[in-house]
Amino acid sequence: MRRHGRFWITSRRCFCTCASLNRNMVRKRTFNPRLMRARRSYALAEVAEVYGIHLRTVQRWRKEGLRVLDEASRPFLVIGAAVQDFLRERQKRRKYPLRLGEFFCSRCRCVRRSVPGALLTEITDKWLGKRHRQALIRGVCEVCCQRLLRFSSDRQVQEFQQSGLLLAEREK
Ligand SMILES: [Zn+2]
Repeated sequence: MRRHGRFWITSRRCFCTCASLNRNMVRKRTFNPRLMRARRSYALAEVAEVYGIHLRTVQRWRKEGLRVLDEASRPFLVIGAAVQDFLRERQKRRKYPLRLGEFFCSRCRCVRRSVPGALLTEITDKWLGKRHRQALIRGVCEVCCQRLLRFSSDRQVQEFQQSGLLLAEREK
């Protein structure tokens, strides 16, 4: 197995260029959440060391939603449980890529849509990069009535609303 850009190639012989990689030949890397001790705090560099990855990768995770203990103090510290949550959520997302309006239902264990009237959005205080805020979209599974939650961004919520699905804003 060797590294090829963002992907790990499982096949030994790859004649493709990065742009034309065959999906069957690449495997996105997954990280074992259990390598983190839930109650320990780690510097981002320590997380990188545990997983044998570049510090920049962990810094990117932070921008993608990994919660640090204190945004105001450097170096950033993360609690092991936050890394575990982040990785589990991320790996679930990759396994079941969601389209607009879809959720992963934990009871049905598959992709479902929500009862339209139950859709609710909430923009959180967390920034995703410099321009967008994190948003939560809540709903109710149209098959089993399980409550659904999807992490999203304010931009996606906008797309969602433009797509004609009515979303109610959550009152604070
Ligand atoms: Zn369901």
